[in-house]
Amino acid sequence: MIPAQFDYLAPTSVEEALSALASAGDDVKIMAGGQSLLPVLRMRLNAPDVVIDLGRIDSLRGVRDDGDALVIGALTTHSEMVTNDLVKEHASLLSKAAAEVADNQIRHRGTFGGALAHADPAGDMGAAALALGSEFVIAGSGGTRTVAADDFFVDLFETAIGEDEILTEIRVPKHTGWGAHYEKFVRVAHQWPIIAVAAAVRADGGTISEAKIGLTNMGSTALRARATEAALAGVPATEDGVRAAADQAADGTNPPSDLNGDSGYRKHLATVLTRRAVLTAAGA
Ligand SMILES: Cc1cc2nc3c(=O)[nH]c(=O)nc-3n(C[C@H](O)[C@H](O)[C@H](O)COP(=O)(O)OP(=O)(O)OC[C@H]3O[C@@H](n4cnc5c(N)ncnc54)[C@H](O)[C@@H]3O)c2cc1C
Repeated sequence: MIPAQFDYLAPTSVEEALSALASAGDDVKIMAGGQSLLPVLRMRLNAPDVVIDLGRIDSLRGVRDDGDALVIGALTTHSEMVTNDLVKEHASLLSKAAAEVADNQIRHRGTFGGALAHADPAGDMGAAALALGSEFVIAGSGGTRTVAADDFFVDLFETAIGEDEILTEIRVPKHTGWGAHYEKFVRVAHQWPIIAVAAAVRADGGTISEAKIGLTNMGSTALRARATEAALAGVPATEDGVRAAADQAADGTNPPSDLNGDSGYRKHLATVLTRRAVLTAAGA
């Protein structure tokens, strides 16, 4: 279908975008890569009066080294997340998750910031960003604020970004030397995950010293598997060593039931995929 008519604005700076957002009225949508927004507009599930395209704001692209953290521009595409050397070295969980997003064409248009702002609990990037304790830099007319990972995802398709605000950067603490793996369970290739597990693991001499686990599509937002993380500290990186901790992966979750599987099936999958993700991340 063809979207309903809208006015199209293409600012070249964040300031210009914020002032366009402030003056555009109530019915306005920001567009990044358009890979989630355009299908919504084409199906006429939303019909904004104004679309503000961020695509010409070059300052929102790219990855820079900022000491203990990487600063990733919101418009950095999934493809860049897969290939960027800084991301691969210091936050490899993000490159591995980005490699699993949809297909090549969508990865070339879709953006890291757009995926996080969209906050689909089945989206692949949320769990990985959450697991690494990312911070979200949000610009508004009153200035810039930073939101911690645990406060960013509020509910289904809802984040801490206000209606008059723009996500500009994601600060990701460096996890240099950590192993990482994103285990995605799909029925056919290039699909949205039925569920997925993002694991970053620090292992010394065959023993896990620290683990960070994010869960995709196990509730209305991306989640951390905190009980599993705590139980993994100090266990051997072996199938038997990891099993009891991984069995707690679904604790406190409330996954959906749909044609791909019911809630109980997803909870079972979470324990199995967590075990696989942790062992692969630990190099076992
Ligand atoms: C066929 C298909 C299959 C897909 N499969 C997968 C998949 O398997 N896994 C997966 O994770 N994703 C998948 N996606 C979605 C894809 O990852 C999108 O790239 C992503 O969800 C949104 O990124 P975007 O840059 O295109 O954002 P857009 O579509 O432009 O925007 C999405 C939403 O975020 C808001 N937004 C965007 N950027 C900002 C910002 N900087 N500040 C504030 N708000 C902002 C927009 O207003 C909009 O509401 C798929 C998409 C398609 C079309």
